[in-house]
Amino acid sequence: MLRPLLLAAGRSRTLKRVAMNVPWTRQVVARFVSGETIAECLSTVRRLADQGLYSTIDFLGEDTTTASQADHVADVYVELLRELRAAGLSEWAEISIKLSALGSQLRGGDAIALDNARIICAAAKLAGTTVTVDMEDHETTTATLDAVNQLRRDYPWTGAVVQAYLHRTVDDCRALATPGSRVRLCKGAYAEPATLAYQTTSAIAISYQECLRVLFAGPGIPLVATHDPAMISQALAILAEEGRTPESYEFQLLLGIRPDEQRRLAAAGHRVRIYVPFGTDWYAYFLRRIAERPANLTFFLRALVSRGKSDPGHG
Ligand SMILES: Cc1cc2nc3c(=O)[nH]c(=O)nc-3n(C[C@H](O)[C@H](O)[C@H](O)COP(=O)(O)OP(=O)(O)OC[C@H]3O[C@@H](n4cnc5c(N)ncnc54)[C@H](O)[C@@H]3O)c2cc1C
Repeated sequence: MLRPLLLAAGRSRTLKRVAMNVPWTRQVVARFVSGETIAECLSTVRRLADQGLYSTIDFLGEDTTTASQADHVADVYVELLRELRAAGLSEWAEISIKLSALGSQLRGGDAIALDNARIICAAAKLAGTTVTVDMEDHETTTATLDAVNQLRRDYPWTGAVVQAYLHRTVDDCRALATPGSRVRLCKGAYAEPATLAYQTTSAIAISYQECLRVLFAGPGIPLVATHDPAMISQALAILAEEGRTPESYEFQLLLGIRPDEQRRLAAAGHRVRIYVPFGTDWYAYFLRRIAERPANLTFFLRALVSRGKSDPGHG
């Protein structure tokens, strides 16, 4: 019940204005967001690299309403990639982009977003790293996968994302399981209708496992994005059965969520990549993290009342 409400709140401009103007929300948000600047983000990437953890960096923002805003997002990514290379961190970090931030919701937006994504991919190639295209709500699924296919003609390392809660996703996995294809499998973070998406935890888990089997049986590179212990165990069993070597798959987790598990998987010899968001436009991302775990809401409200005492944390 709470989840759709929180996700709807994530789309409200009024609530966004209120939340972003409350100084102490920042301390709560800091658990999930690396900072506001490229320098803060790179210092998080370095800290993670020191622990043997890779990063995928997201410049926050999905509310792009003008072409100049979209160009600005592309410019920030290009600068980020330049600084990543200058800092000698290209080996440790790739980037994640959202087509909505790059202009896909504008008139003629698919072409605008694709042009911006191409600029970013060219900068990533120069920096010696890769790009993954995040998946947003179901209205964008087909266009996003089309854009990935187009980007892959010039940049075959472009990563796709699929969401196990959508009925279509097992078929998408079959289509994406091609040689070298980097595919991030997540459960899905948006409120989707029952006609298109599984609604129960168990149905989503079954779909996730089916997708894992398809991706690991194929010649691509599955990127297992979950914090769910049952999904992680399944992936570990399947990758052992398939005789996968550590460079042929990844585990991916979000910054600030189950950090002990992040380190445990890395220590066991798996490649682990952390999703590292940065920027000032954290509101919608933050609300999705709250919606995934109601306990975060309690923590958030407690912090509001106590003016931001620090989180005791959980692994
Ligand atoms: C690297 C990465 C990239 C992603 N990219 C996308 C994307 O492009 N598009 C998209 O729709 N979604 C994306 N997601 C989000 C994803 O779809 C899920 O919403 C999110 O990962 C929660 O699902 P879960 O598999 O962790 O399982 P859940 O069943 O939600 O969680 C399992 C356990 O993990 C812990 N946990 C999970 N979420 C939280 C949280 N917010 N706070 C604290 N603890 C938590 C809890 O212990 C929980 O019991 C991404 C997730 C990851 C890890």
